Amino acid sequence: MHELSIASSIVKTVLQEIDTRDLKTVTKIGLRIGVLTDIVPDSLQFGFKAITKDSVLADTDLLIETIPVKGSCKECHSDFEVVEFVFICPSCSSNKIDMNQGNELEIAYIEAED
Ligand SMILES: [Zn+2]
Repeated sequence: MHELSIASSIVKTVLQEIDTRDLKTVTKIGLRIGVLTDIVPDSLQFGFKAITKDSVLADTDLLIETIPVKGSCKECHSDFEVVEFVFICPSCSSNKIDMNQGNELEIAYIEAED
């Protein structure tokens, strides 16, 4: 399960952060996830809860922000949001487009108690 390994790498990163900054625990973890990553937020939440239930992160909230796909057209240089995975420029119908965002998988912030 894809999400479980992602949840476990998030947990690892946050636990290292707790160690480095000498924190008691973390109350919130904010994640930014692009829709192109194919990650199901509910599954990630579930995996996170399963991994952390007996750890210092047992009461930590995982807040997931979904990032839409944005592209820009190589032909007419317009920027647009890609809706429902239609990778075609809405201005000139070209399929030569660059993806600018949508592949994010990052911890945006953590809120800690020290
Ligand atoms: Zn175009």
